[in-house]
Amino acid sequence: MKTIIEPFKIKSVEPIRFTTIAERREILQKAHHNPFLIHAEDVMIDLLTDSGTSAMSARQWAGIMDGDESYAGSRSYYRFEKAVRELTGLTHIIPVHQGRAAEKILFTLVGGKGKRIPSNTHFDTTRANIEYSGAEAVDLLNEVGKHPHQRADFKGDIDLAALDAFLVKERREHVPLCMITVTNNSGGGQPVSMANLRGARDVTKKHGIPLFLDACRFAENAYFIKLREPGYANRSVVEIAREMFSYVDGCTMSAKKDALVNMGGFLALNDGALAVQARNLLIVTEGFPTYGGLAGRDLEAIAQGLEEVVQEDYLRYRIRSVEYLAEKLLSAGVPIVEPPGGHAIYLDAKDFLPHVPPHEYPGQAVACALYVEGGVRSVEIGSVMFGKYGAGGSLISPPMELVRLAIPRRVYTQSHIDYVAEVVIEAHRHRMEMRGFRIVEEAPMLRHFTAKFAPL
Ligand SMILES: *Cc1c(COP(=O)(O)O)cnc(C)c1O
Repeated sequence: MKTIIEPFKIKSVEPIRFTTIAERREILQKAHHNPFLIHAEDVMIDLLTDSGTSAMSARQWAGIMDGDESYAGSRSYYRFEKAVRELTGLTHIIPVHQGRAAEKILFTLVGGKGKRIPSNTHFDTTRANIEYSGAEAVDLLNEVGKHPHQRADFKGDIDLAALDAFLVKERREHVPLCMITVTNNSGGGQPVSMANLRGARDVTKKHGIPLFLDACRFAENAYFIKLREPGYANRSVVEIAREMFSYVDGCTMSAKKDALVNMGGFLALNDGALAVQARNLLIVTEGFPTYGGLAGRDLEAIAQGLEEVVQEDYLRYRIRSVEYLAEKLLSAGVPIVEPPGGHAIYLDAKDFLPHVPPHEYPGQAVACALYVEGGVRSVEIGSVMFGKYGAGGSLISPPMELVRLAIPRRVYTQSHIDYVAEVVIEAHRHRMEMRGFRIVEEAPMLRHFTAKFAPL
């Protein structure tokens, strides 16, 4: 059979509220043209993020009932710890309420003024936590990863020569660790190869620098390695994931991604002394080390989710449904980052709206248009999210202006995806009528969440 069906059936449904184009125009205006400020009820297909939006399985819901809510030494913690340890091979497993809490703890301990932290590409919360500590976040993405229309198997790879050169130049005490994001969320959801992880391990080891994974989408990355990297076709996804983790000294994880839950995360470390400090900070900011900002039931659901996310029928469907949307868009001439990533389609807003320059936020214009056209919510990943102001107050733009259509896990069916394709293609047909935006209000950090816009 050619059709890859959803490897689940649906036991519980949530209604979608239908709206008209006129209603959506008004809703968007009230939300100051920022999709983050739209009420979720007013969204028909929500592709804002794949974070915390997964549908849990019946077994995970059973785990929710079964969770042990003891303050200290909960059985659910030990099940969670075992699941994470078996997957990662890392020693100290510290639960937190979400990924950025792990980042906050880690970079409070190892960051600070004068420190520089290299990565393939830091995710926005990672960058924010590094910068908040006073340190500098440095992206060293491979050249091919910077070209949205150049196809390559592992566009998330870190530039190993640049990493080596960086570590030769920097004093060792200024670089507390190197971080590799799998898959590379801000760079198009592109995977990192095993060869690159091994190479990064060798380079960092040579310089005596610990290597960490931002492991949010480890299972999707592992599946791409299985599909694309020679020598891995006959290895199981779990084995591949274990090999990925075998090259690192620690990881941060948002369980809201590849643990198929709505809330949770962890920090995992081999360094015992650092783990002691991390747990001390955890007690101040999150909670006791056997729950860390989560309920016992959340820990149960994470442990179960980590087992389900590496199942190959799930990953085949997952990766294929994203690729299916990409094929439909490409055949209609819509510019996207190629090849499509694991969790999302990234529209290339520079190509989509060549008449809107970066300082007029073309990605924001496309995201707003998709909402009005069909009630589809997406997010700008470009000058709104990553723009900085230079000395003269002029905008310094990132290399790409993207709009992300993130696909929640196990939530939408093929007909929902078909509908999304129609909406994007229709918006693309009207692209010459779209205009840019200016920002009328913004926060000093992570401004994309709350900024208010006015159309130009
Ligand atoms: C989501 C995400 C984070 C932050 O996790 P939260 O759970 O949202 O705090 C960090 N890194 C990457 C790559 C992510 O995708």
